[in-house]
Amino acid sequence: MDPTYSPEAEAYREKVQAFLAEKLPSNWNGLGGLEGDDITDFVTAWRKTLYEANYLAPGWPSEYGGAGLTATEQVILAEEFTRAGVPSGGPNDVFGIQMLGNTLLMWGTEEQKSHYIPRLLAGEDTWCQGYSEPDAGSDLGNVGLRAELDGDEWVLNGQKIWTSAGHLADHIFTLARSDPDSPKHKGISFLLVPMDQPGIEVRPIKMISGESEFNEVFYTDARCPKENVVGGVNNGWAVAMSLLGFERGEAAATGPIRYQTELDRLIEMARERGLTTDPVIRQRLAWCHSKVQIMKFLGQRTLTQFLAGHHPGPDGAISKLYWSEYHRVVTELGVDILGADALYIEGRPPSSSFQTDDPGAANTSGSWVNTFLNARAGTIYAGSSQIQRNIIGEMILQLPKEPKPA
Ligand SMILES: Cc1cc2nc3c(=O)[nH]c(=O)nc-3n(C[C@H](O)[C@H](O)[C@H](O)COP(=O)(O)OP(=O)(O)OC[C@H]3O[C@@H](n4cnc5c(N)ncnc54)[C@H](O)[C@@H]3O)c2cc1C
Repeated sequence: MDPTYSPEAEAYREKVQAFLAEKLPSNWNGLGGLEGDDITDFVTAWRKTLYEANYLAPGWPSEYGGAGLTATEQVILAEEFTRAGVPSGGPNDVFGIQMLGNTLLMWGTEEQKSHYIPRLLAGEDTWCQGYSEPDAGSDLGNVGLRAELDGDEWVLNGQKIWTSAGHLADHIFTLARSDPDSPKHKGISFLLVPMDQPGIEVRPIKMISGESEFNEVFYTDARCPKENVVGGVNNGWAVAMSLLGFERGEAAATGPIRYQTELDRLIEMARERGLTTDPVIRQRLAWCHSKVQIMKFLGQRTLTQFLAGHHPGPDGAISKLYWSEYHRVVTELGVDILGADALYIEGRPPSSSFQTDDPGAANTSGSWVNTFLNARAGTIYAGSSQIQRNIIGEMILQLPKEPKPA
């Protein structure tokens, strides 16, 4: 575990810091310092700045609109952006660029790459992820959305659920059963489906926080062109698993920085409320401190492997399990420190759900209660904690596989 940076790497860090100093307002204190429409306006303008600098997909080759950065440079860029409290893209880019773009570079045909990659970078297409179904979540191989060929088109019938940002997207990458007679994992195809068609209906689901960030998506004779299959017909399982590696990998590098910033805010709130002399609160804060330190070391281990050229594989399960379980506890402490004030919501909610609030955010009930409620979901999405433990047990520790249900 030694993610030390060479003098050349540190020179690149200075370049990124100069970029941030040039592009950000002089009084910049993190996205959390903005309110209301200013947040959306900033994120839209910032995404454009990143697009023009080829920083939306910094590791991609320049022929696909990336900056061709080395692994070390990508890590430094992510670290500096996180420290500065700016996003690394727009709200939809986790689906379009991080998940689908990386997957297309690995599995896509030349036609798919040349059509979709420039469009998703330019923000012309917005994507969402259509994996889960009512009977296929942890057991993703059970997908039942049916895809049948009709001439030059796939015809899709069935339902997806928990589709984050489905109401904002115009395309969905989806797993569908293209051969019902093959064994479970062998008859699935990965399809690229336009959503702006009569056969697709998106119904929002209300979350515990009152927001509606995810949806049910119903397919009734929905269609997509025959060539919109990625990685070959009935080979969707392998494609789907590559994409999950990209989904789970990223947090190891930037997570520890975000969680440290969040914990610093929490300690500040305990101080503001005269609670740093309370022995129980002190003990709970110390527990959080030790967890963030361990998270840093876990992150450094993943980084060391990444810098040595290894893709985040099953190891990503360790950091996913760790940060999501930690985040439930630290946000509970936030609510306890707020005390009765947690019952009255004031102040802006976080700009995006499902992670820490943005650096620079005020210590309000709007910030902490919302983050607390959404942190419950962290141990479910991108694979539940039980599934991460199975992956760690079976794929990392090489323990015997769990018995299959009869
Ligand atoms: C906020 C949020 C956003 C999401 N966004 C998306 C999205 O954009 N696109 C998408 O496709 N999906 C999305 N999901 C769905 C997510 O991937 C699933 O919720 C998750 O995979 C769990 O599946 P499930 O909900 O069907 O639960 P189930 O699989 O039914 O699991 C129920 C419980 O049983 C446990 N369990 C299941 N199998 C095992 C086992 N083998 N061993 C031990 N325990 C087990 C689980 O851990 C869980 O506690 C999102 C979910 C959330 C909460």
